[in-house]
Formats: sequence, C-alpha cells, structure tokens
Amino acid sequence: AAMAQADIALIGLAVMGQNLILNMNDHGFVVCAFNRTVSKVDDFLASEAKGTKVIGAHSLEEMVSQLKKPRRVILLVKAGSAVDDFINKLVPLLETGDIIIDGGNSEYRDTTRRCKELREKGILFVGSGVSGGEEGARYGPSLMPGGAKEAWPHIKTIFQSIAAKVGSGEPCCDWVGDEGAGHFVKMVHNGIEYGDMQLICEAYHLMKDVVGMEHEEMSKVFQEWNKTELDSFLIEITANILKFKDSDGKYLLPKIKDSAGQKGTGKWTAISALEYGVPVTLIGEAVFARCLSSLKDERVQASKLLDGPKMTQFSGNKKAFLEDIRKALYASKIISYAQGFMLLRQAAKEFGWTLNYGGIALMWRGGCIIRSVFLGKIKDAFDRNPELQNLLLDDFFKTAVENCQDSWRHVISTGIQIGIPMPCFTTALSFYDGYRHEILPANLLQAQRDYFGAHTYELLSKPGVFIHTNWTGHG
Ligand code: NAP
Repeated sequence: AAMAQADIALIGLAVMGQNLILNMNDHGFVVCAFNRTVSKVDDFLASEAKGTKVIGAHSLEEMVSQLKKPRRVILLVKAGSAVDDFINKLVPLLETGDIIIDGGNSEYRDTTRRCKELREKGILFVGSGVSGGEEGARYGPSLMPGGAKEAWPHIKTIFQSIAAKVGSGEPCCDWVGDEGAGHFVKMVHNGIEYGDMQLICEAYHLMKDVVGMEHEEMSKVFQEWNKTELDSFLIEITANILKFKDSDGKYLLPKIKDSAGQKGTGKWTAISALEYGVPVTLIGEAVFARCLSSLKDERVQASKLLDGPKMTQFSGNKKAFLEDIRKALYASKIISYAQGFMLLRQAAKEFGWTLNYGGIALMWRGGCIIRSVFLGKIKDAFDRNPELQNLLLDDFFKTAVENCQDSWRHVISTGIQIGIPMPCFTTALSFYDGYRHEILPANLLQAQRDYFGAHTYELLSKPGVFIHTNWTGHG
C-alpha cells in the first residue's frame, strides 16, 4: 500500500468504531482501521467496509505509517485502562504535534490527566463525548470535543462533517473547552437524559393510574405532545413504545419488569453535583428512582403491608388534567436543564474552563438521545445573553414556567393525594420555590449549627462579620 494516504486512523472495531468509520468514509475521508484483536480488521474490510475507501492495518506501526501529518488517531475502545494502554503504545510511534482523540465514555478526570501527560510529550490529546449510539455514530452523532485546543483546526472539518445537522445545516459539534470539558459535558448530557426519561415515566404513571388510560390512548397523547414544546426524540419513542404489541397481540410494555438498570453515567453527574455543591436535584432523584425501582422484591412485600390513601382515582376533567400533566412535564424539564447548566457553570469556575453554553445546547440539539426542539430555545436564550446566570432568568423560560405553574402545582397535589410517586416533578417544583425565595429557613439552620458547634453565623445587617452566641447562658 502507498504510504501516508489516510486522513485519520480509528482504533476499536466494535459497534461505535465501525459506524464512525463508515460515517467518515461517506464524507470523503480515508480512514485506517485497527483493532486489538487484529483479525477483526480483515473481517471488517471484507464485510461492512467492503467497497469503501477504508484501509486496514495489522499493527500500530503500519497504521501510523499510513497517516498524513499531523497524524490523527481516534480511539473508540472500552473506557478505562484500554485507553491508557493504547496511548502508551502510540506515543513512541508519534511525533510532536500529532493528535490522539478518545471518543469513548471516559471519565472527565482521566481525560484531564491524559491531556496533561501527553502535552508534556508534545502530543495533542482530545477527549470527545460521542452521543447517539450506533445509529448516531453511523449517520450523525452529537460530538463534544475538548482538550488541547491546538488540535481543533486539524480535526474540525472531519468532526463537523460527520456530526448530526440541525436547522440550516448547523453541525451538532463545536469545541467545548480545555482538558476534560468535552467528557464533562457528555456526562451532564447523560445525567439530563436520566432526568428526561424519569419525567416521562412520571407522566405515564399519572396517565395510567390516576386518569386510568389505555395504551393506545396514551400513545396518541404522547404523539400530540410531540407537536408541542415537548417535541423530542424521547417523547416520540415513548408514543411508539406505548402502542407496541408483542407477537401474541398484547401490549408489550406492561409485561416488562419494572426494575431499571444503569451503567453509572447518571450517577457520575449526581456525584459531581454533590462534589461541587450544585443543587442538581432532578438528576439526583432520577438516579434514585432507578435505585428504588430495582428493589423489586422488597417493593412487592411492602405493597402488601404499607397503606396508601383511600382515594385512588381522580374525578376531574380528563382532557384538562392531561394538559396539566403536559405542562408539569414541561416546567420540570426547564428546571432540569437549568440545573444541568448550573453544574456546567460551576465546573467551568472550578477548572478555569471557558464554556460556550449556547454551543453546548446546539451540540445536544440533534444526534443524541436528548435531542429536542427545546434545546434550540436554550441556544436562543444564550444567544440573547451569553452571560445568562440561570436559564430561569431568561424571559422566554421565565414566562414558560409562569404559564405552567398552576397546572404543575395541581398535578403534584393531585398525585400526592392519590399516592403516586413523582420524585422528579416534585423536586423540580421544590427547587423552583426554593430558588425564588428571598428568605429561606437556613437562618434557623445557622443558629442550630452555632448552638451545638459554635460554627458562628452572620447577621443580615452585618455582612462579612461572623459571630458566636452563647445560646444556653452557661459555659
Ligand atoms: P466497547 O464494547 O465498549 O469496547 C470494545 C472495543 O474495545 C473493542 O474494539 C475491543 O477490542 C476494545 N478493548 C476492550 N478492552 C480492551 C483492552 N483492554 N485493550 C485494548 N482494547 C480493548 O465498544 P463500543 O460499544 O463500540 O463503545 C466504544 C466506546 O464508546 C466506549 O467507551 C463506550 O462507552 C462509548 N460509547 C458507546 C456508545 C454505544 O451506544 N455503544 C455510545 C456512546 C459512547 P477487541 O475487539 O480486541 O476486544
């Protein structure tokens, strides 16, 4: 084979890697494929990649020799030590200014560490969130690259051509920020995905058990909602799931065990929220809701022992109540995204990253699981004011929440009276009520801390001065 003909190399021929290669090939880039288990290279060239311009390599040396300079190598291997192993093998084969990109689901701290270590060796490291699963990788993922910014001009064209497009062809990919910023943003994306899914589940629970609706009817409601502000991939698939029938002609959904799994990416977001002290309550509750669901055996026992309210069905106007649920979902979703962007802001402060919030909303607008029309509105809000402190303070979202507020409160109080768990609807409303209160009861909390621990407190009238009171008169 002729030397130095490939635009980029990709290591890792599992689903994500193979699909990204074919996507890059579609856009005219010559990709060199490599994999730890080398036989998969030939398998790939003889099957999925047959008839394409994709070339293969049987060793890292061969792979590197086929790359144009600066060399670009993208890793799509299992997150963790596999990434470090490949980096260690690649470094001796590369030159100053060459680029390694990690497109796996790595932890942002690992990405920051790798950025620093590789910078010392003259290699530019990029950690990129890749979202959208198999389908996204093949036809247009959401890409969130961060790390060594000098690499961006060399990978921008490839990244933006293969990314999902929205509106008039705007790519769902832009430079996110330094170090692990790309993987941090991907992590928050996954947390928000947990929240969006749980909110839809709570709406479904209310429709099913409070309103007493059948599957076909619920499916139609979600289909209608998909023509409103809630227009999104997750609402669309929910409509399809609800009406899906098993081979026996019965609905599949009620047969599925109500015990949710998780791979941990939502948990990471919640852990970061606690670590940096940001009240990202909705994602936290969404993770806990999965934990509670997975205690299936315990819940079966408890359901026989623990009483709920006597009232079990709702007696109001069904159509009006469905519209109330839709508004409760919309308002809660606004809170969730406001919280997610609060976490991004705090991380930016913590790590000294400059994040482009509107750009992040645009990256999530298409290609990924949380893609929605709603994210376009968030982009607009940050376009209006790039310094926007909180989404809730933007006029559009402020008015949207105001318009939903009565419905939101009505749905929650009805659900509570009937005994339906709505962890995300309720935590969202509590956050909203907390955020809009000038005075919270934390004055008492400070007094308690000072009483038992002499932690001191500040007077409203004397900011910056911390005092201790001898509350008991002795000692
Ligand atoms: P995966 O199952 O996570 O990983 C399989 C690939 O990693 C194979 O190429 C495998 O090589 C290689 N690998 C595993 N352990 C290795 C080791 N110790 N040393 C060297 N290579 C090793 O593949 P995937 O599902 O395509 O995902 C790739 C990355 O993208 C992961 O980080 C994943 O979390 C992320 N991601 C996945 C999705 C998705 O929808 N699947 C979406 C977004 C992001 P062998 O063939 O030799 O075993």
